Formats: sequence, structure tokens, C-alpha cells
Amino acid sequence: MSKYLSDIEIAQQATMKPIANVAKEWGILEDELELYGKYKAKINPEIFDRLKDKPDGKLILVTAINPTPAGEGKSTTTVGLGQALNKIGKKTVIALREPSLGPVFGVKGGAAGGGYAQVVPMEDINLHFTGDFHAITSANNLLSAAIDNHIHQGNKLGIDFNQIVWKRVLDMNDRALREVIVGLGGKSNGYTRQDGFMISVASEVMAVLCLSNDLMDLRERLGKMIVAYNYEGKAVTAAELNVHGAMAMLLKDAIKPNLVQTLENTPALIHGGPFANIAHGCNSIMATKLGLKLGDYLVTEAGFGADLGAEKFLDIKCRYGNLKPSAVVIVATIRALKMHGGVAKADLGQENLEALKAGFVNLQKQVENIRKFGLKALVAVNKFVADTEAEVEQLISLCQEAGINVALNEVWANGGEGGREMAEELVKMVEAGESNFKTLYASEESIPAKVERIVKEIYGGDGVDFTPKAKKEIKKLEELGLDKMPICMAKTQYSLSDNPALLGAPKGFRITVREVRVSAGAGFIVCLTGEVMTMPGLPKVPAAENMDVDKEGKISGLF
Ligand code: ADP
Repeated sequence: MSKYLSDIEIAQQATMKPIANVAKEWGILEDELELYGKYKAKINPEIFDRLKDKPDGKLILVTAINPTPAGEGKSTTTVGLGQALNKIGKKTVIALREPSLGPVFGVKGGAAGGGYAQVVPMEDINLHFTGDFHAITSANNLLSAAIDNHIHQGNKLGIDFNQIVWKRVLDMNDRALREVIVGLGGKSNGYTRQDGFMISVASEVMAVLCLSNDLMDLRERLGKMIVAYNYEGKAVTAAELNVHGAMAMLLKDAIKPNLVQTLENTPALIHGGPFANIAHGCNSIMATKLGLKLGDYLVTEAGFGADLGAEKFLDIKCRYGNLKPSAVVIVATIRALKMHGGVAKADLGQENLEALKAGFVNLQKQVENIRKFGLKALVAVNKFVADTEAEVEQLISLCQEAGINVALNEVWANGGEGGREMAEELVKMVEAGESNFKTLYASEESIPAKVERIVKEIYGGDGVDFTPKAKKEIKKLEELGLDKMPICMAKTQYSLSDNPALLGAPKGFRITVREVRVSAGAGFIVCLTGEVMTMPGLPKVPAAENMDVDKEGKISGLF
């Protein structure tokens, strides 16, 4: 038997406090709490009025180097760092994304941290939780139904069937739904056309929910979403179909942040979960803002490596939420750095100091990038059992020699106690002086200028090429007056370039933007550098086959 317990075994042994008690301890009033059973609650946004004069806590972003496919431990570190900061006397709340059912049943399993740094009740969080994703799915599909009905009823808006960009969604990995024909079966069943499904987290409704500051902001953004173009090439919006009010109604509870706790009873706001490629990949602005009101510190994370996740967090989320981070924690693992140094996946278990040194350039570049935003960076070395003492020591000295703040991160094995050094180092950095946060570009710049800045400054590339298709799309957005918004890059997370095989800190490359789309409600322009899968499929043996429930309702195999 393994000497390590699985994540679900650790989670099932947790001593959870009733969530009403956690809420009370953290200054949330009974009337502000909407209970979903004993261990989950939503928080009524009325709390913002009561706390409006209370100063905000410090905002800490957790990000990572370019990862391996296994993930480098951003969620785990976020949870563990929150627990550790509380241990050293800093009142800290964490904020994470909600997991999607697609990956749960696919390869990855759930997403609620790992080891002794997890959020609980993890079964609920990974399954239906408080129903937010179902509400998002319903709102999205109400709009789809409205489009087809509008056409069926005479198509007054002149929607061009070949230019319908809105898709139906489902929170499931189901490749058979990628391309479908709707409206088969005769005139009474509507107009026959090609449609497709995406996974719910890829819906613009999800991005809108996460970037809204309140319910009315959400309603307005939903109205601006473009569903199609008419025969004259003009955008048709959800507001023109007049269902944005009903969509906002469906989302009136989903927009309220969810409160749960970590294994050590640290409050955790888990809310929203947009894709990190065609969307910005972080939890909701409302949850982040609430955490800043409740704690001295709010620790949150962004998807993928820092070149994508942190850049979008800073240039999109912070811009719309008027948020000013105090510092950024960059999670690094020895195995991923060795991979950046040229080691094949199968050999990562062996000590290799040379490769570690060679791969260090990836971490160095990510630190340099964070500093370009006027922010301080702390490297958190996420220690794995296979890492040797010599490797850990070398990574720490490489950081110190390069003038980079660094701390060992053992929260997976030891919970908050394993993050003490990291928490102390972070507090020292934050208390040493204010950060000087600035975004990388101004929204008013042209689309090519904004993308070029990201490519040159953040990826370290020589420049950007737009395909003829992308150029045409940019011209159209300029004509529609939709080009003055932040950029949302969709790129591989494995490399700083758009080629997943170029590891380390590559130089002398160019990025190709193949397609440009607009998310007019969310408020960003998506630049795609390759194919993006918006409806994943299941693997040969889906994780679902190992999952079960017994007669007492006890779940197994979720991780
Ligand atoms: P990310 O948020 O970067 O995708 P996660 O925090 O979800 O990464 O971690 C990915 C997986 O790796 C999880 O299953 C987690 O339990 C595991 N993990 C994280 N840190 C460690 C560690 N130090 N040792 C062993 N497993 C770890």
C-alpha cells in the first residue's frame, strides 16, 4: 500500500466546521449568508454596501512557469499559502475557480488543490456544487433557443444563417456534439442549420459572469454579446433578441460568490471558471473583491503559466475590476525546469543538475515579466518526493544569485505548516513597500500594437504575423468600433512561443495569429495562435470508470 493517502482520502478525513461558523468568524452576517447545506454557502452581494468603507486587503496572485501536462501546483499552492498566512497571523482568504465536470470525468480528475492543501467538501465542489455551471448552461442555451426561434418566426433582424457565431453548451466532454445539425424534421421544427456545442466553461456567459462587478453590470454585458451577423454584416446582439434580461435572471444566484473552506478551515471563495485560452482563466471579480474586504490578504490564481495566465489576470481582470495586486507568487517545480532544460518526460525522475540549470531560464523570464508590470515576484519551489536535496539547493541558489526572492513550498505534504517560510517571505516583501502596478498596454491602442507588445515584452518573440483571415477580422472589428478592448491570447501553455516544443526561454521566433474573435460582452478580443478545442472528448478509459458511490452515498475514485 502507498504510504501516501489519495487526495479524496485526505479530504474525507477533514474536520470541517459548519460554514455558518466560518462565516461568523470572518465577519459575515447571518443575513448575508445563503446556506446550501451545512458546508457550502453563497454570500449576498449586499455585503459590499456594508463593507464599502473598509480598506481592502493585499491581493496576491499565484501563477507558474510554463508547466508540464500534469500541472505544477498553482491551486495547491494557493490553498496552502492561504493556510500558511493564517498560521503566521495574517487573516487570509483564498479565491479559486470552480471545476468543470468535463475534466473531472476525462483525464485530469477534479481540481481542488492536492495533498494537505485542498478545499472541502471536495466531492461537492467537483460535482454540482451550488449549481452555477448549470445556471450558466441554461442562460447560454436560452440565447441559442432565442436565435433559432427568431429565425423560425420570420427573422426580422435579418440574421445570416452562415454567420451565427453563438453555440450551444453543455458541461461535459462529448466530442459527438462538436458539430451538429439542428432543426431537422420539417418546418415546424425550425430552420435546418449547422450548429455546434462547446463545454460550458468556454461560453462567453462564463467570462461575462467572472468579469462583472454586479448584477446590473452582468445584465448589460450579456446584452452586448454578439450572436450573429446580419446580411449587411452588422453585429446582432443578445439585447436585440431581447433575452438578456431573462439570462441575467437565470444568473441572479450564480453571480453570488460561493464560500467553502480549506482543510485547515481557511475561508475559500470558489466562483466562476472560464477557459484559460479563449477566455481569461481566473475566478470572478466579485469573489476576489469580496475576499479583499474579508481578509488582510486575498490569495488567488490564474490558469496556465505566467505568460498567459498572469498576463491576462493583470491586463484583463485587474483592468475591469480596478484591482491592484501587491505581489505575485510564481510556482516552479524541479521536474518542469528539467524539462525546459531538455530532459525527456520519462527521465524526469532522475537527478539532473545541469538540465535544471539550463531550464532555469524559463523561470527567470517569468520573473522578469512580472516585474514589467511593476510587481514583486516570489518564487515558490513546489517540492516533489522525487526531487533530490542537491536539486532543491541548486534551484534556491540559482534564484538567490539572480536576485530573485525564493522560498521552499511544502504545502502539498504538510499543509499550512509546510508553507510557513513562503508566507513569511511573502509578507516581508509586501510589507517592504507598495507595488507599482501598471497594465502592459492601453486598451485604446490598435489590435496589432497590443498583440505585438505582448509578444515582444512577455513571450520574448521578435514580432507577430497575422494571417490574411486574421487581418480581415481585425479590419471588421475596427469598422464595428470593437477594437479598443484588451487582448485575450489563446496560445499553448507549454512554451513562451506558439510552438509547444520550444521550451526554456526561446529567442528569435515570431508568433502567428490565425484568427481574431470578439467577446463583446466580456470585453476582450481573442487572438488565436492555433486550434483551440472548445469541446474536449473523453479518453479511451475515462476517469469516470473508476468512480462510484456506495449505499451511504460515500463517493470513491473522484481523484
Ligand atoms: P495547477 O493548479 O497548476 O494545475 P494543481 O495544484 O491542480 O496544479 O496540481 C496538479 C496535481 O499535482 C494535483 O493532483 C496535485 O495534487 C499534485 N501536486 C501538486 N503539488 C504536488 C507535490 N508537491 N507533490 C505531489 N503532488 C503534487
